[in-house]
Amino acid sequence: MDVHVQKYGGTSLADDKRLREVATRVIERKEQGKSMLVVVSAMNHTTEDLIARARRIHSHPSPRELDMLLSTGEQMSVSLLAMAVESLGYEVISLTGGMSGIHTDNRHKQARIIRIDAARILRELEQGRIVLVAGFQGITPDGDITTLGRGGSDTTAVALAAAVGAAWCEVYTDVDGVYTGDPNIIPEAQLLRAVTYDEMLELSRLGAGVLSTRSVELAKEHGVKLHVRSAFSAQPGTKVMEVEAMEEVLVRGVTMDANIARISVAGVPDRPGIAFGLFKQLASEGVSVDMIIQNLNRAQVNDISFTVSKDDAGSAVQACWTFLESIGGHGMVLQKDDVAKVSIVGTGITNSTGVASTLFGTLYEAGINIEMISTSEIKISVIIDAGQADEALRKLHGAFSLDSVELS
Ligand code: ASP
Ligand code: MG
Repeated sequence: MDVHVQKYGGTSLADDKRLREVATRVIERKEQGKSMLVVVSAMNHTTEDLIARARRIHSHPSPRELDMLLSTGEQMSVSLLAMAVESLGYEVISLTGGMSGIHTDNRHKQARIIRIDAARILRELEQGRIVLVAGFQGITPDGDITTLGRGGSDTTAVALAAAVGAAWCEVYTDVDGVYTGDPNIIPEAQLLRAVTYDEMLELSRLGAGVLSTRSVELAKEHGVKLHVRSAFSAQPGTKVMEVEAMEEVLVRGVTMDANIARISVAGVPDRPGIAFGLFKQLASEGVSVDMIIQNLNRAQVNDISFTVSKDDAGSAVQACWTFLESIGGHGMVLQKDDVAKVSIVGTGITNSTGVASTLFGTLYEAGINIEMISTSEIKISVIIDAGQADEALRKLHGAFSLDSVELS
């Protein structure tokens, strides 16, 4: 069976008119001879409103009851969409996560899919029905409703596409796709026709959270190709797929994270076990650390610097002081908040030595000082002054010719 999977986000289902437009779009594909399997999110703001309402009743509702409540957002949109399709004279059925065979563990609010039994979905499709599934939810072995974490409808759509053997999952959202950079900062940013799964994971910030991380991981794992496109424009959108299927480029896009702080622990003894003790203390306080550097600048004394998210900065500083006390009170802790992480992302980075030198040269010419550097297979990141981040993004975007990417 040739199953066509689509997912619609909350803004495309926001009111009666849009619901009907989605119904029409689904029917058009059905008329082209496809078996239609469609996953929906809750309507715009519904999930936030339900969370706020729950909090007014109880400051810490139990995760199970929260999932009971939050899952109704998607049930509302899926049943209304079914009625819109029905009203146009087509056979349709809406299903909850549990009814569609999505079995999860029992970690409420963050459940993982453990198994999908697609028999019901396939049966309904075989009978010629359009099948609509409420995203973001599943069912535990005990029959309790779980949710899959924020943005979980994407995860549902990709998981179902894999389960029914669909090659593609089309994701309709309110942005045109993924860009080479944030168009709000870089006016020249271009819509990317295609990115790899790994690039998508790194670039996800550019797309305003356009896909949930988990959904991209699942798509990669099962080889489901994604096509992200706007429900409101005729733009071609962005395809997310494996690298062999795409033209190799060095750098696909530039990205920035300003929600970070740099913490420095200065003047610690230069001997085995210091880094271990420090990062053990940070881990035990639940701080997750991103970049790390150590400089050896004075006899027998080191400075260790690292970055954390701004939310973790307070606990990180606390953990550092605790550690310094434990080694006899040497050293001191400094926190710097006005830093940003600027990254260039692309699968070609790993094979090219020229990329790093272009990056450093461009920042040098702009008079931008680099405080820290880190590299991975598909990314080079630098920590710089937050006030210079926008300029760095624009300069790098130009230096890697992203203003004129070949749009095919
Ligand atoms: N409604 C859920 C959320 O807002 C799931 C989703 O939209 O994908 O996170
Ligand atoms: Mg979303």
